[in-house]
Parts: sequence; C-alpha cells; structure tokens
Amino acid sequence: MGDAFRVRASSWASLFDCAHRWEGTHILGMHMPSSPRAQLGTAIHAATAAFDQAALAGQTLRPVDVSPVLVDELRNPERDVDWHADELTRRDAERIGLQLVTRYCLEIAPRYQYVAVELEVRPWQIDCGGGTVIEIRGTLDRSRARQDAAGVGICDLKSGVNAVIDGRAKTKGHAPQIGTYELLYEATTGTPVTEPADIIGLKTSGVPAVAVGQIHNAREQLIGTDDEPGLMDYAADMFRSGLFPPNPTSHLCNPRYCARWRVCKFKDDQP
Ligand code: SF4
Repeated sequence: MGDAFRVRASSWASLFDCAHRWEGTHILGMHMPSSPRAQLGTAIHAATAAFDQAALAGQTLRPVDVSPVLVDELRNPERDVDWHADELTRRDAERIGLQLVTRYCLEIAPRYQYVAVELEVRPWQIDCGGGTVIEIRGTLDRSRARQDAAGVGICDLKSGVNAVIDGRAKTKGHAPQIGTYELLYEATTGTPVTEPADIIGLKTSGVPAVAVGQIHNAREQLIGTDDEPGLMDYAADMFRSGLFPPNPTSHLCNPRYCARWRVCKFKDDQP
C-alpha cells in the first residue's frame, strides 16, 4: 500500500462540490488570495472560537474581550487578502464582524453546553482499494460539539452573504461536511453523535443577522449501503482513479473562489 493522501478534515466536504477545484487546491497546490468577505468569515470564526474555548475552560468573557481577536485577523491576516476582490472595505468588515460576534456571544452561545470547540481529530484512514488510502486529519474547524440531556450533536458556524434566509440559517449543501464531522467526532472521542446538527448562520451582508437551522441524518449521504453507494464510495473512486470531475454549476465556479478557474476548460464563463 502506498503513502496515504493526507486530507484536511475542513476541506473534505468541498470535494463533493467541485472535485476538480478541490484537486487543484489540495493536490496540485493552486492558491489564490482570500477575498475580504472570506477573511471576515475567518475573523468572526476566530473570535467566536476564542469566546467558546474560554467558556469551556471555565472562564466568563464578554464579547468585547474577544473583539481584538476579530480586529487582529482583519488587520494582520496570516494569508494573502486581496482587499479589492469584492466591495467590502476593511472598516465595514470590522463593523459587521463586531456586530455578529456580539450577537453570537449574547444570543446563541448561551443556548448551548459545548463539550468540544474545533476539536483536533484522530487521523482517520479510508481504504479506497487498489493500494490507495486517504487519511483525514486536522480539526473540526468552525464547529463545536454540544451536549444536553438528549445526547451529543454538532454545531457548525457558517458565515456569508446568504447564511441566513427568511430568519433561518441556510442548511442546503452542508450535509456532507456535517456528516464527515459527526463521523470524525465519534471516531476521535468514542462518543456517539445522536442529535441533529445545528447550523448557526451569521449573515455578513445587509443588516447582519444570526439564526439557527437543523440538519438531520447527515451521515446517510456519506455512508453507502449494499444497494446504494454513499459519497464516501464516490470519493474512494476518485482517489483510486485519479479522476476528479468538474462541476461548472457550483456556486463557487467563479474566478473569485476557484484557484483553477483560469486554466479550467470546464468552467462556465458565459454571462
Ligand atoms: S472553474 Fe468551475 S468547473 Fe473548473 S475547477 Fe473551478 S469550480 Fe470547478
């Protein structure tokens, strides 16, 4: 058996959106600068994680205590950011980010008893057959595990312009990531995830909004049966064959979001 393909847990679900884009970024090493809105998401997630990690350690923080985390991520990002890639200015990003972090800390976090925040997972190997192995590792970025009397469930924070629609967090398209995180959490901790996942939406456009939506049975998409393959079976086929199919209908099929766009002959660049 050859060396395993090492895959970051947080990237795994995007394989099922456009596998060609995923191959470009994670196997061929194509990169592009982050957009202001993506960096705003990174900053919000860093500040909310700092708040929740402190609570997990028994500390009580106020939103203002984690504001510097958000501001620092926007002013001193670790990765390249093209501040002209969209219409969001750094000043507006700070204003929106601070509002959303405050609302998350005061309205959303108190609802939950978290037992893990951005958990580092035990590396998980998937045998694809033909000597090909995938190893998923890293952390459950932007996610928490919560526990109440009913059991354990995953909470996943999603920020973006459409993260909240009609007062509910958008859940469409998130099941592969949630299902992956549920499987990784169970494999790492030995604790079964029995409750539906909560998607916590943080809307970064217009009037900033926060809301929650639920995903049930996310794992069913990933795990196949004797009669029907799951997404894991399709993934194994891709790695074994080396064929990562394009998806020009992906909402991320756009030069702002895809590092392979310029050289991809499958992109749909019609107006
Ligand atoms: S340009 Fe579109 S089809 Fe091609 S890799 Fe990127 S997202 Fe996929």
